[in-house]
Order: sequence, then structure tokens, then C-alpha cells
Amino acid sequence: MALKILDNCINCDMCEPECPNLAISYGAKTYEINSDLCTECVGFYDSPTCLSVCPIDCIITDPDIVEDKKMLLEKFEYLVINEKI
Ligand code: SF4
Ligand code: SF4
Repeated sequence: MALKILDNCINCDMCEPECPNLAISYGAKTYEINSDLCTECVGFYDSPTCLSVCPIDCIITDPDIVEDKKMLLEKFEYLVINEKI
């Protein structure tokens, strides 16, 4: 699954620079994750780095975007091949 930032994000700026896929950016009111770019850090790290730095635990796996490890790895390879990350 891609990850998702909840509305209670306090815009602390901790997660954005940590994302290796450049999937996090400032949205209308809070930071947001571009699900097309999020691989749950598969291809770079063993676990989602944004989750580990968020001080209020407002980043969750998006239940509407179900992707297993194989799909996330294929997504990572697609992003690399197409120079999106
Ligand atoms: S899980 Fe990884 S790739 Fe996805 S938004 Fe967080 S830091 Fe970026
Ligand atoms: S680390 Fe958490 S609270 Fe801080 S900007 Fe990112 S999602 Fe929002």
C-alpha cells in the first residue's frame, strides 16, 4: 500500500526531506503523499522512513491503495527506469 498523511498533520517538515522517492510535498493545507510515487520505501529502505520520523504518528498505510511487496518493487523499478525518482 502507498502511505497517506492524515488531516491532523502539524506541518513540522520532518518527513518531506526523508522521502527517497520525492513523494511528499506540501498540499492545500498539510503535507501530502503522491501515491503514484510512494513505494513504502521499497527499493531504498527496509521500512517507510517517513513513518519513523513523524512525531505525531499521522502517517498511515492507505487502505484504498492495496499493493503487496512484489507490486511495490515493480513500481520502484518503473519509477527508476522512467527517471521519475
Ligand atoms: S513510505 Fe517512503 S516512499 Fe512512501 S512517502 Fe514515505 S518516505 Fe516516501
Ligand atoms: S512528519 Fe508527520 S506531522 Fe510532520 S509534516 Fe510529516 S506527516 Fe506532518
